[in-house]
Amino acid sequence: MANAFSYSCRDCEGMEACPASVVAETKDEVWKLMQLHAQVAHDENPADWDNETRDYLSTLIKPVSV
Ligand SMILES: [Zn+2]
Repeated sequence: MANAFSYSCRDCEGMEACPASVVAETKDEVWKLMQLHAQVAHDENPADWDNETRDYLSTLIKPVSV
């Protein structure tokens, strides 16, 4: 068992149909994978996210044991 962090895209408002999730050892890594996912799968530019969006997304990163 190790501690890790996960993000499931379907937890995000409006993304309920998206099957993607990422798990990584650190929040920082999850954040980077999340941004890459948003770019590739949802054609979003993470550089355009405002603080409110970033705060909201960071609440969706959950600690997990793997
Ligand atoms: Zn997604």
